[in-house]
Amino acid sequence: MISKILIANRGEIALRVLRACKELGIATVAVHSTADADAMHVRLADESVCIGPPPSRDSYLNIHQIVAACEITGADAVHPGYGFLSENAKFAEILEAHDITFIGPTAEHIRIMGDKITAKQTAQELGIPVVPGSDGEVKPENALEVARKIGFPVLIKATAGGGGRGMKVARSEADLEEAVATARTEALAAFGNDAVYMEKYLSKPRHIEIQIVGDGAGNAVHLGERDCSLQRRHQKVWEEANSPALNVDQRMKIGQVCADAMKKLKYRGAGTIEFLYENGEFYFIEMNTRLQVEHPITEAITGIDLVHEQIRVASGGGLSVRQEDIVFSGHAIECRINAEDPRTFVPSPGTITHFHAPGGLGVRVDSGAYQGYRIPPYYDSLIGKLIVHGRTRVECMMRLRRVLDEFVIDGIKTTLPLFQDLINNQDIANGDYDIHWLEKHLAATSE
Ligand code: ADP
Repeated sequence: MISKILIANRGEIALRVLRACKELGIATVAVHSTADADAMHVRLADESVCIGPPPSRDSYLNIHQIVAACEITGADAVHPGYGFLSENAKFAEILEAHDITFIGPTAEHIRIMGDKITAKQTAQELGIPVVPGSDGEVKPENALEVARKIGFPVLIKATAGGGGRGMKVARSEADLEEAVATARTEALAAFGNDAVYMEKYLSKPRHIEIQIVGDGAGNAVHLGERDCSLQRRHQKVWEEANSPALNVDQRMKIGQVCADAMKKLKYRGAGTIEFLYENGEFYFIEMNTRLQVEHPITEAITGIDLVHEQIRVASGGGLSVRQEDIVFSGHAIECRINAEDPRTFVPSPGTITHFHAPGGLGVRVDSGAYQGYRIPPYYDSLIGKLIVHGRTRVECMMRLRRVLDEFVIDGIKTTLPLFQDLINNQDIANGDYDIHWLEKHLAATSE
């Protein structure tokens, strides 16, 4: 049994995990940098430990300080949230070596999915459909041969990739040499590893991902999909569940493929299998071995608390649900509220002078922000998430329109006006968009 959880994160996700711990009667330890001493997750935790100065590498990424904080407070488990150390296999191993439970998958599974080529090969072996592409790494000297086999356009991607970096499209043979060279240079600069691989470039896909949870002993369920096609620079902006593009049969079919794969893998914890979806086909791109930012929309349509499930399986308690118990009800949309200029997306840290969160039926606001809160400039700009649920997509959109009118955040710039714009757009109303839609829309409306 787990009796005290140290939350190795900050911001809205630290608060999210803390809430689940409270509901389960588990004591909480917050850790924070000196820049976050006043943060909400610190105020609400049973205990807190300062783990270093503002830069993440000295605090939220400092494994020694976090392990020391566990020992000082007697925490017997760590929840890593997302980002920071959540997909760091070494961190999971060090915790296990100290007899501290890592609330997540095994270090081995984190490692397999953290390397894109191994992840893709593993997915294929587990029966998950993948994007046609190279068999592992591609060297400049055999790039042309591989590209001809796949067929142009092709995408060159960094093996160690993340955050959309080290990715280049080659539309024809003439582009190829330069695309490979640029991708390798970028990959080396960003990840210290210049290995690249090649995939068929899909021109108008949607981004659809499947939420799964496994108990580590061969049981796993899927909780349907999320459509995260509305992105800017590969960063998700608006997510919905279910996807406007899938019907029940397609959902249950791809969901079952993923759940079966996770059973075979004996996967433990929550995870997300990400696909590009085009012309009725799914193509695996990667698996995230952690809780995702957009998990609340899945919770809204299933009623299942994913953090409760993570904690249950980490403590050996198994899953609380069987596949046949999971019922998808209604529609949910999440808007990511960033402290950024809604047109230029330049970060806008500063003090929130006025904060009023909306309420009412079907509304959830996950945020560590409050009136008088000073947003530090050191971390990502996500300050909150607005999640709206309705019985139908139309009802959900109507509710979202009302809720956006109610939300007030003054003193800084936020992305709220962007959502006011999207909610009045006909393509969005029709659910008719792909992964390029938002950037095209932003370019068209900025002229
Ligand atoms: P990262 O880990 O860097 O985020 P992903 O493999 O998850 O990389 O891809 C990020 C995004 O890049 C996808 O959401 C999609 O927008 C685009 N992308 C990736 N692979 C392809 C592909 N084969 N064809 C078209 N777009 C792609």
